[in-house]
Amino acid sequence: MTDHKNNPYYSRTDTTHLHVSDKEWEKILPPGVYNIARDKGTEYAFSGKYWKTDTKGTYYCAVCGNPLFKSDAKFASTCGWPSFYEAIHPGSVRYENDTSHGMRRTEVLCGRCDSHLGHIFDDGPPPTHQRFCMNSAVLEFEPDEK
Ligand code: FE
Repeated sequence: MTDHKNNPYYSRTDTTHLHVSDKEWEKILPPGVYNIARDKGTEYAFSGKYWKTDTKGTYYCAVCGNPLFKSDAKFASTCGWPSFYEAIHPGSVRYENDTSHGMRRTEVLCGRCDSHLGHIFDDGPPPTHQRFCMNSAVLEFEPDEK
């Protein structure tokens, strides 16, 4: 697990909504995380650490520790980004319309810290037919205990 001792906002249990400025996050987060989480960047397809993992466990927000996805909802997608058909709880993420880059997309943000995680599309598998197309850099995986 990544060391979060320089991140006073990090918690896997506290669900309080965070109001932290980008300026403050910039001091705390590694540049590769900040670029995606706060500047809404996208990692290159097939470049992230989780696009093809299938280990059992939980994916947390790499910025604030909020639980986001269970590996049970992860599916093998050919898109090159970690893909899930549902969030761990409905409130663990929130959505916003995104019309950047000449596209109409729905942005997915962390429900606790409002960091950009990726986008959601309606071409996923059953039962939800949704595809949460996420960036590995803003996720942190913790395997289930054996
Ligand atoms: Fe978060």
